[in-house]
Parts: sequence; C-alpha cells; structure tokens
Amino acid sequence: MAQAEGTGNISAATRRKTVAAAGLLALGLLCLVQVFVRPPMLLAERFVPGAGWIEAVLLAVYAALVCRAMLDPTRQPRWRRFTWLLFSVAFYSQLLLGLAGIEKCLMTGKLHLPVPAVIAAGPAWRGEEFFMLGLFLTTVLLVGPAWCSHLCYLGAWDDLAATRRRGAGPFPRWTRAGKTVFASAVIMTAFLMGVAGVPGRAAVLTGGVFGILGVAVMAWFSRRSGSMAHCLFWCPIGVLATRLGRISPFRLVIDPSCTRCKACIRTCRYGALSEEDLERGRPAISCTLCGDCLASCRCVSIRYRFIALSGDHARALFIVLVSALHSVFLGLARI
Ligand code: SF4
Ligand code: SF4
Ligand code: SF4
Repeated sequence: MAQAEGTGNISAATRRKTVAAAGLLALGLLCLVQVFVRPPMLLAERFVPGAGWIEAVLLAVYAALVCRAMLDPTRQPRWRRFTWLLFSVAFYSQLLLGLAGIEKCLMTGKLHLPVPAVIAAGPAWRGEEFFMLGLFLTTVLLVGPAWCSHLCYLGAWDDLAATRRRGAGPFPRWTRAGKTVFASAVIMTAFLMGVAGVPGRAAVLTGGVFGILGVAVMAWFSRRSGSMAHCLFWCPIGVLATRLGRISPFRLVIDPSCTRCKACIRTCRYGALSEEDLERGRPAISCTLCGDCLASCRCVSIRYRFIALSGDHARALFIVLVSALHSVFLGLARI
C-alpha cells in the first residue's frame, strides 16, 4: 500500500539531501561560532586550541545521523527522547563539573539558575540580560514550540516522569486557561520583585524554590497523569513557547481520513489532542510539534504543514532544523 503524506515517504535522493542539509547547517553555525565568538564556546577548543574544529565536524556528523533516524516517523519518538535526554544530561553534567572547579565547563563563569522559568523571570526581575530570552525567541521563530519537545535542558525529565505511566491520561481542561494566568503571575512576581529592589540572594532563593517545586510537580503529577504536568502548567516558558510558537509557520494538521480511533490521544503527553481537537482537524495550542502522534496513527491522518510544502517535505524541513539546533545546543549550551 502506498504511504500517504506525513510518513517519511520521500525519495532516497531527497532523504540524502535532507540528511546532508542537517549536517551542513550544524557545521555552518558551529563554524561561525568558532570563528567569531570569544572566548571559545566549543569545549574542545577551550582545552586544546584548534580542537574546536574537530568537535564542530563531529557534531555536524551527529546532526546528520540524528536527522536520518528521525526522518522515519516510527523511530522519531524514541530518538527524540534519547537526544533530548542526552542534551539535558550534558547540560547539567557541565554545570556540576563547573561547580566542582572546572570553570571551562561553564559558559562565562557567571552562574544563573538552571531553571527554564528564569529565561523570562530573570530579565523581568533584572530589567537586563536578555541573551537567553533572545536565544529562546530565535528558536521559537525557527521551529515554533519545538523548544519544549526537543531543545529545552529540563523538559526531558518531565517527559521521563510522564512516560512512567503507560499512555497519557486526561489532563484537566481548566489548565488550558489556568496556565496562562499562572505564567503571567510568575513573570509579574519577578518584575515586582525587581521594582521592589529585592536583593539578588533572595531572588535566587525564590527561583531555586520554584525549580524544586517544579521537580515535585514532575514526580507527583506527571508520573500519575502520564501527561507532562510540569511543562503543561508549572513552567511559564511552556506558555510562551506554545503561544509565540504560532509565529512560526510550522503546524500539525489532522486530515478528514481520521477514523477517530483515539490512538493519538493516548500518545500525546502535552494534552494537545482530544475528540474536539480531532473534530477541528488540528491539535490544541499546547502542541509542541513533538511528532509522537504521527507514529501512533495507522491511518496516516496526521501531518506537518509549512506554508505550501507537502506534509513529507514540511516534516523533513522541521527535522533538519531541530536536528541541527539540537547538535549546536549540545556543543554550546551551558550555564
Ligand atoms: S515547559 Fe519549561 S521545562 Fe518544559 S520543555 Fe518548555 S521550557 Fe522546558
Ligand atoms: S499533538 Fe502530536 S505533535 Fe502535538 S504535542 Fe501532541 S503528540 Fe506531539
Ligand atoms: S490515531 Fe489517526 S486515525 Fe486515530 S484518531 Fe488519531 S488521527 Fe485519527
């Protein structure tokens, strides 16, 4: 039976070009960083001058391999989880090594809290240091809300907690509106703390407590519900990523061929699929373009969309971008 759109049904030649594009994009970005950014950002360059070029090539090859694996929608969920967790482990390991005294493992040596909420709450409190927020917004522009399914340094742990339960359970619908209110409250609190002149130590302590409570949300709610409760409700960056992600033209659509078997609803850990969403032909706004539902749909009724591209080509473009960004983040992202 011929495969329909969205299944990775692209020609071998297109597949080869797609894989090469991911590798070249990663290599190009890493070379720009290697040439123009000082002090050096690639870890190998910091230890052995010149070795950063070798690391850039290895990361580019890695991006191509990840892209090749993820082009197969049935393998994408496994590879997404593996690469996402790998990045998170690399990120936090470097932080621990930096704290242990190996300062080359830190970005600048100036510590920030490794809690995603601080990406927005930090600048709201300080009124400055918009670098991480800028980086986040750039990725949102490129790949929409996929920051929250492929690129964030913490979300993989919420995914790990949620997948302890077989199949996603129903997530309360009130959270769809409630999380916007909660996220606004978190960022507004940070802003008011800045206006009130709350000292740095107290602000860091507040951020730390928020992060620890977030881990408790993962351990308790995500494990029980099978949905990513931390990312769906607790973390304000999730709200920003999914709302601002609408700027990017990447979308997920559900074709009329859908038989309402509901297999995808049980797969979606982001609470983005319900019977009403199937009826509307698109997931809810909490969709992060993770792609897990494509693997669960036997009718091949779910596909990516990007302007006028076919489902397969839209998906291929998406995979190129997330594979390259993941590889670049793996090489550069640290505190
Ligand atoms: S919601 Fe927050 S913790 Fe979850 S993936 Fe997004 S930024 Fe990361
Ligand atoms: S609707 Fe599909 S792509 Fe979107 S979050 Fe759910 S499983 Fe992932
Ligand atoms: S898995 Fe496919 S056919 Fe079944 S409800 Fe979801 S989109 Fe429809």
